[in-house]
Amino acid sequence: MSNVRVRIAPSPSGFLHIGTAKMAVFNWLFARQQGGTFILRLEDTDIERSSDEFAHAMCEGFHWLGIDWDEGPPFGDVPAKGEYGPYRQSERIPLYQQEAARLLDEGKAYKCFCTKEELDAERERARAEKRPPRYNGKCRDLTPEEIAAKGDAPYSIRFKIEEGVTEIDDLVQGTVRTNNSEFDDFIIQKPNGYPTFHLAVVVDDGMMKISHILRGDDHLTNATRHVLLFKALGYPVPAFAHLPMVLDENRKKYSKRLRGANVLDWRTDGYLPEAIFNYVVLLGWTPGDDRELFTKEELIECFDINRLGQSAARFDMKKVQWLNGQHIRRLSVEELQDRVLPILRDAGFDVDSKPPEWLWKMTHICQEKIKTLNEIVPYTDFFFQEITEYEEKAVRKQWEKEDAPARMRRIRQAFEETEPWTLDNLKASFERMTEETGENQGAFIHPTRLALTGKSVGPGLFELTELLGKEACLARMDQAIEYVNQLGVHQT
Ligand code: GLU
Repeated sequence: MSNVRVRIAPSPSGFLHIGTAKMAVFNWLFARQQGGTFILRLEDTDIERSSDEFAHAMCEGFHWLGIDWDEGPPFGDVPAKGEYGPYRQSERIPLYQQEAARLLDEGKAYKCFCTKEELDAERERARAEKRPPRYNGKCRDLTPEEIAAKGDAPYSIRFKIEEGVTEIDDLVQGTVRTNNSEFDDFIIQKPNGYPTFHLAVVVDDGMMKISHILRGDDHLTNATRHVLLFKALGYPVPAFAHLPMVLDENRKKYSKRLRGANVLDWRTDGYLPEAIFNYVVLLGWTPGDDRELFTKEELIECFDINRLGQSAARFDMKKVQWLNGQHIRRLSVEELQDRVLPILRDAGFDVDSKPPEWLWKMTHICQEKIKTLNEIVPYTDFFFQEITEYEEKAVRKQWEKEDAPARMRRIRQAFEETEPWTLDNLKASFERMTEETGENQGAFIHPTRLALTGKSVGPGLFELTELLGKEACLARMDQAIEYVNQLGVHQT
């Protein structure tokens, strides 16, 4: 194991957001590449907003994406792991209190007795005078006697910001220098004894020996305060990389309300975790050439932390779909079958009465075509149910023609004569028709597809025809001929 220790520290106050997933993916990749340790920590001190249900949903999201952690809280069958636990902040309160007390003892923090009313009034005054709202330092220099005189009055603990300049060499943002005077003495422990985010995150990162913090650039302004706390507590300061957030197709922050904000939406919509993992990586990293399609293993191999991008990438649905299709093609037929059969069962189709070789072929003929797993349903429903309607637009195009009835009869005849019912013989039958009429194959293929499937798109025609079987094909041709006759278009 190397000394690389990275973490993802979500607050379980909702589902696993695509933006959090992106941060997790980069931390995970970096850990796996460096032979380091990837840690999952739940920042659940906001009791009102956190819940076990959300924690579970988040872990499930990670699980689906294939992001496993080396240290973290228990989840389902996965036991708690790691020597630096507990990995839920709500179980670490005494540790934060101990560290806050240490800062108090060392004079690096102080008790603040200002009441909420006083602080609100002060903030109001600052607003009226158009000053930035900052703590006025009233309790900074209380004497021990003054403090003793407060008795049992509730207090918060504030961190003393010392004068100076703090520099962060961010792996993505470059060197960020901030004058400490931009910050006021901030609260690290609330009157109820709970830590604020700043204290908890730094104590955790310090005690868990985190070496690199890769997180969203919405935390860049927090980083100065964190560095000051790391130093005050005597922990080594980790390296930082603040990564751009995920933007939606309109270049706005990817709203929680948008479809796809929840990582598990992608699962519901028939995307492969491999594809979402791949896509999320492309949102913040480029390999330096024009490759876009990667497996996890390939990414572990070629990921380079120094090539993380600084600008936020816009979400591109077309690209995700394309990538998903590419990942579908990369599966073995058996793997794809394992993923699509449950979807067909859920759709109510009796897949289990079909022979295994038939199911294999059915999957195979769709593999090159579908962009999402869910598309397996419209691509194969006609195998499992009779045709009850024909696509309107296709009917107009293929059948509302004078010669349609004759053409359909001719195709039926060709089917009738195809013996044995094999892919090659079917192809040969269609070739014969085109040779005899001088028309192109499309003139026969499209109306046949409509008759057999009710649609204008689907798997390759000869392949699906072979799989449907002669009897079903003849019956569907008969049904279509009747339908076309009833259209009664310009028949002479
Ligand atoms: N709970 C914080 C978040 O989800 C973690 C911040 C950090 O990574 O330091 O944004």
